[in-house]
Amino acid sequence: MKPRLKKGDFVIVIAGRDKGKMGKILRVFPRRQRVLVEKVNLHIKHERPNPQQGVQGGRTEQELPIHISNVMYYCTNCEKGVRIKVRITADGRKVRVCGSCGKELD
Ligand SMILES: [Zn+2]
Repeated sequence: MKPRLKKGDFVIVIAGRDKGKMGKILRVFPRRQRVLVEKVNLHIKHERPNPQQGVQGGRTEQELPIHISNVMYYCTNCEKGVRIKVRITADGRKVRVCGSCGKELD
């Protein structure tokens, strides 16, 4: 199954350490079935100072990708995580809609 989520989508985490957190998708990794979500699955990264690249060094927080089965699209209409359905419009376009209320998401 192809991931229906895409970059910029607002999702809620439904499993794991960050359950309940919400954020925007920063990147999708279709082959790995993973997404990178803003402020979710944060890990502290220790950086070495590298003046040539303007890196000061120290500790920065960085997101790591999480599996798409751990997130759901957050529908602002339903105010919850929902399944995405794909609907074909009259003019043959594919649009993603909320599986719960039917709202168009694209
Ligand atoms: Zn909805």
